[in-house]
Amino acid sequence: MEATEKKRVLVIEDEARIAEGIRLNLALAGYEVSLAPDGIEGLEQWRAWQPDLIVLDIMLPMIDGFSILKTIRQEDEKIPVLILSARGDTKDKVKGLRYGVDDYLAKPFDLEEFLLRVERLVQKSAWYEPVLNYTKPDYPLFEGDHYRFGDNHVDFVTFKAWCVAGEIILTEQEITLLKIFIANRGRPLSREMLLNAGWGYSSDTSTRTVDNFMVRFRKYFEKNPKDPQFFKSRRSVGYIFDHT
Ligand code: CA
Repeated sequence: MEATEKKRVLVIEDEARIAEGIRLNLALAGYEVSLAPDGIEGLEQWRAWQPDLIVLDIMLPMIDGFSILKTIRQEDEKIPVLILSARGDTKDKVKGLRYGVDDYLAKPFDLEEFLLRVERLVQKSAWYEPVLNYTKPDYPLFEGDHYRFGDNHVDFVTFKAWCVAGEIILTEQEITLLKIFIANRGRPLSREMLLNAGWGYSSDTSTRTVDNFMVRFRKYFEKNPKDPQFFKSRRSVGYIFDHT
């Protein structure tokens, strides 16, 4: 079984009743939640706790939500931020978008909608821009043109692999996908990314194609394809390749 790590949501909200309601519902939905009642604590927790998503109120004591957002964006362009605002006016929305907010919800909000938006943003944060231009010197595990993981050994010149399935010749497409996985070792890659990287945007293959390749990779390289050690699934994201 794969360990499912809980996604972390930092909620910066001064109204205790709302904050507690959000905390409870996010916890029930499987998130790890931390509350900060003001911007100073919010920024402290953001640095120390490294959340996957920040839910940010605008009207806060001491430092307002926009200033918090600005500070965060100076150091981190990627962490998703969902703004909660009592003010439904479009000026706030525009200002938020200019400061790099990812989503905006006016209070009072529908709980189901809130949870859906949180889910979407957290998934987004789990996606990295994959490294596609693989060059050998960046990958110290390469010896010459060979790459080893576990008991597997792949030769990227001859496309030969010595693996669980024996001695096989990989296809060009399989080699391309393997290189993408190696270049992004330890990072989750979405099916769409793998599809685009391996087949290109104009291709009419579907994300099922990626799944079919993963079935093959597991047959080739995993001792137990049903309990993969190297090519793992990431629920609702895609796949992650890693090894020691
Ligand atoms: Ca408030």
